[in-house]
Amino acid sequence: MTAEIISVGTEILLGNIVNTNACYLAGQFAGLGLSSYYQTVVGDNMERLKSCIKTAMERSDIIILSGGLGPTKDDLTKEAVAEVVGLPLVEDARSRQRIADYFESTGRTPTENNWKQALVPKGSDVIDNDNGTAPGIAVHTEEGRHLFLLPGPPDELVPMFETSVIPMLRRLSEDVIVSVTAKICGPGESAVETEIRDMIDEQSNPTIAPYAKIGEVHLRITARAESEAQAQAMNRPVAEELMRRFGNNIYTFDEKETMEACLIHLLEEKQMTITAAESCTGGLLAARLVNVAGASSVFRQSAVTYSNEAKQKLLGVPEETLAAWGAVSRQTAEAMARGAAAAAGADVALSVTGIAGPDGGTKEKPVGLVYIGCFIRGHVEVMECHFRGNREKIREQTVIRALNMARINLLQEK
Ligand code: ATP
Repeated sequence: MTAEIISVGTEILLGNIVNTNACYLAGQFAGLGLSSYYQTVVGDNMERLKSCIKTAMERSDIIILSGGLGPTKDDLTKEAVAEVVGLPLVEDARSRQRIADYFESTGRTPTENNWKQALVPKGSDVIDNDNGTAPGIAVHTEEGRHLFLLPGPPDELVPMFETSVIPMLRRLSEDVIVSVTAKICGPGESAVETEIRDMIDEQSNPTIAPYAKIGEVHLRITARAESEAQAQAMNRPVAEELMRRFGNNIYTFDEKETMEACLIHLLEEKQMTITAAESCTGGLLAARLVNVAGASSVFRQSAVTYSNEAKQKLLGVPEETLAAWGAVSRQTAEAMARGAAAAAGADVALSVTGIAGPDGGTKEKPVGLVYIGCFIRGHVEVMECHFRGNREKIREQTVIRALNMARINLLQEK
């Protein structure tokens, strides 16, 4: 089946907001086995909106519309869909009650136009909105088209899509589609693609699709079958083959699990603690660690030591090391990791020192040169990295590499 997205809102057209809804929805399609060939952005204009809906209905089975479900006059999505599919708008009693309850729970009084949000095209399914007043709507036409109308705010659209629309989409397709994602850190995108070229060439069901992320590559395996168990069984040998090829470089097969969560859980398992000493990442590494709920059981403190003085004062990096090798050096990274571990009394310490640019690079030490130190119970390893990209990208790649280095070294630790 094919699916397309219509994002409604003049502010998207004008570039006032980023169309994250389309990005999110499009990202969901592959996992649902839906092919998508078109996306449209249209302003809050009745004629143009109707024309986009008509066009979409000529070429796609499923149309997801985001935005324009609010109470004001320029919110036209529902009216436009009702006109195009030829259905009158009628009040949905349950939605009216939910709107009344929502206002009561937030201590506000609805205005007359709020009740407009309880109107739905006759015979459509209402999709509950637990985070706002505009209900979503699913309209199924006689020609077999399925239109899903969702409110614009992402914190309303995303939960509604996940809780209600995904199960509806799954019911529309006779087959079950199951995806599993191998998240790889270490080899770059082209190395990963080269390693699985034969698998990509032979793929049909399951399919394998690579997605490049900052510092990582994700391989999504998707099988289509009559039952979930069958689809899972089809995905399994492909996942096992990826394990054979990439080994520990695969840090998870769980779509929701992050690198930092993997590391924190590994530390918990081994009952070890971690700390960090950061120069060019300025706290990003620590911020990633505390992204994980429960990180406090393994992470207590960390140091941002941007200047040489701070490296000496907080981490005890010898002045001679800094003078002889410079702040961005293998030796300083090692001394930082040792000093951080000692200061925190931690089992594991990650240190980062590098040149994030855009200035500060030299021929010997160019922008993108980063040393990452990893201390584990007295032993320190230092990795030299050469990253490309702007300052932000270099710092992000550094963080993911550092987390991964600790993870891999811990896996090898007895
Ligand atoms: P409401 O009931 O809140 O009025 P709505 O369905 O009418 O919702 P819009 O008025 O179109 O939605 O948009 C409301 C807000 O939602 C926008 O100001 C913007 O912050 C966010 N939003 C809308 N469309 C998108 C989009 N495509 N991507 C990301 N955010 C969006």
